[in-house]
Amino acid sequence: MSRVSKSNELLRFSERGIYCPPADVYIDPWRPVDRAIITHGHSDHARAGHGHYLAHRFTTAIMKHRLGEGLSYQSVDYGDSVNINGVTFTFIPAGHILGSCQLRIEYKGHIGVVSGDYKLEDDGISGCYEPIPCHTLITECTFGLPLFNWKEDHLVKEELNTWVKENALSGKNSVLLGYSLGKAQRLQHMLETDLPIYVHGAVHHMNAIYEHCGISLPPTIYPQDTKKPEGPCVVIAPPSVLGTPWLRKFAPFASSMASGWMSLRGPRRRRSVDKGFVLSDHMDWKGLHTVMDETRPERVICTHGYTDIFAQYLREQGIEAITEKTEFETEQTE
Ligand SMILES: [Zn+2]
Repeated sequence: MSRVSKSNELLRFSERGIYCPPADVYIDPWRPVDRAIITHGHSDHARAGHGHYLAHRFTTAIMKHRLGEGLSYQSVDYGDSVNINGVTFTFIPAGHILGSCQLRIEYKGHIGVVSGDYKLEDDGISGCYEPIPCHTLITECTFGLPLFNWKEDHLVKEELNTWVKENALSGKNSVLLGYSLGKAQRLQHMLETDLPIYVHGAVHHMNAIYEHCGISLPPTIYPQDTKKPEGPCVVIAPPSVLGTPWLRKFAPFASSMASGWMSLRGPRRRRSVDKGFVLSDHMDWKGLHTVMDETRPERVICTHGYTDIFAQYLREQGIEAITEKTEFETEQTE
């Protein structure tokens, strides 16, 4: 049997999602299915409507909040394996957000990996990515271009805390905008300040899940009235608050956005924020290379992001690579 037919036997792309025929389960399906394995809690991967959910216990905690308590959930821990019809699924940290996993899928000596979303650097609160040697790798390519080149976390942390200090000295509050699940908590984890930290409701609810899962974050205030807070302070909120009355009550402030897209000049201007922090929960160009070097896949399937360019690049390096269409979103704020 050829390599390609063996990998097709194990993992196949269908209109409902990534399908594993021998186990009869889908991974991060985008249409309702009976049995779903979920890599992480972001809404384009953990969708409503499935009959049964299998995921890391932190991801099920997120899903219980987002999708409801009364669904059929099965929780596992990092390193756990679940055997379904002779297929072994092992949950390995992906380093993306709380509870994020890569799936190692072994069947008849063939090893496939579904990376979900993942990142190389250990940010201290999202689990630590581990390479998984495999035959077939299904990877995201959200930032699969050479111009995406992340700084080490400690450098971003220094830049962030200096900016907050300078704003306070000039009488301004510091507004940090980032995705409410993952990015917002990473920003809190990086802050070194005695100033009060105010959070938006969406961030507050996700913080509660992090705390519930044993991740301690700095104390924050969730303002539930329209009272103007005493400055100077720090505000953490999703980007959707820009231009809303909720944010205006924190004036005067300097605004910033934390995202991998801040590497580009265009998005920073479009979002009309004062400062951009290049901080991403995804692999950058060199991260994707490290993955290829450490996992040595024979075949790579590129799902979301710069798939065509990255697959072309891999083929030039002698790796068999194709792209597949999915409904995973290339989140503009990640
Ligand atoms: Zn994600």
